[in-house]
Amino acid sequence: MPGPVESAPCATCGGAGYVVEQVLGKPALARRCACQAACPRCGETGYVLVPDASGARAQVCACRHLDERIRLFNKVGIPAAVARASFEAFKSYSPDHVAAKRVAEDFARAFRSDKPSKGFLFYGRPGGGKTHLLAATLRWLALEKGVPCRYVEFMLLLSEIKAGFDSGRNQMEILRPLISVPVLAIDELGKERGTEWERSMLDELISHRYNGGLATLFATNYFLDPRAPAEEPGRMVQTRSRDFQREAEAMSLSQRVGDRVYSRLNEMCTLLRLDPNVDMRKDGAGGYWGR
Ligand SMILES: [Zn+2]
Ligand SMILES: [Zn+2]
Repeated sequence: MPGPVESAPCATCGGAGYVVEQVLGKPALARRCACQAACPRCGETGYVLVPDASGARAQVCACRHLDERIRLFNKVGIPAAVARASFEAFKSYSPDHVAAKRVAEDFARAFRSDKPSKGFLFYGRPGGGKTHLLAATLRWLALEKGVPCRYVEFMLLLSEIKAGFDSGRNQMEILRPLISVPVLAIDELGKERGTEWERSMLDELISHRYNGGLATLFATNYFLDPRAPAEEPGRMVQTRSRDFQREAEAMSLSQRVGDRVYSRLNEMCTLLRLDPNVDMRKDGAGGYWGR
């Protein structure tokens, strides 16, 4: 009689049981891998028999958790550009990369829904992999740990709130799910114009989360200290709008978000520079479109 056959891990999902789709313009969507179409463990009954003292008892099959975790992942709202971002796919090319990845991974692995936890904030110029690490953290939490998470780009959230006013929805209808989700990632912090109203929305959102002991993660292109505007050799004529933009880019994070929000960020987060001298998007180093 042939013995039990040890099957090799699935070549499509590597044994994870799920695959993540990347469709331009759509948030990342996970689905069961074909190898899990009919669960090999429970034969789609959702239960497996495990031996115990009285013979055997029924236990919920792991595939039930898989479906639940896929459902959670599909609600995160990870943008298409980083749909496949993961800790495994994140390549480190600098000490900043190594340090930031460690902070993100430690956060994800240590995270517990029943304990308040401190989030993290990555700052640095665009292209350093900040969004990739935010997405990888949320992916890991949702798919490996079953933690509900959300990703928002702060400017888009503000547009959504404004659009809500036009259709008679008040801001709390849009903010409430973001206030209560166990882990929220806010990307592109400081890109907004910085009006009183914008600051009050941000304050409303993060103060509630802070008071509730909920973890919030951030990424921003603004540094903690004001920077000298980037030199542009060969430019003889500066246009006023370009000057204005360079001035804005040189501002510090506290100048962009205001002192009140900035001091809150310091209480809620570990602030870490992620500003490697390599543009992962331009150099294709980040594996954004790989795998
Ligand atoms: Zn598979
Ligand atoms: Zn099953």
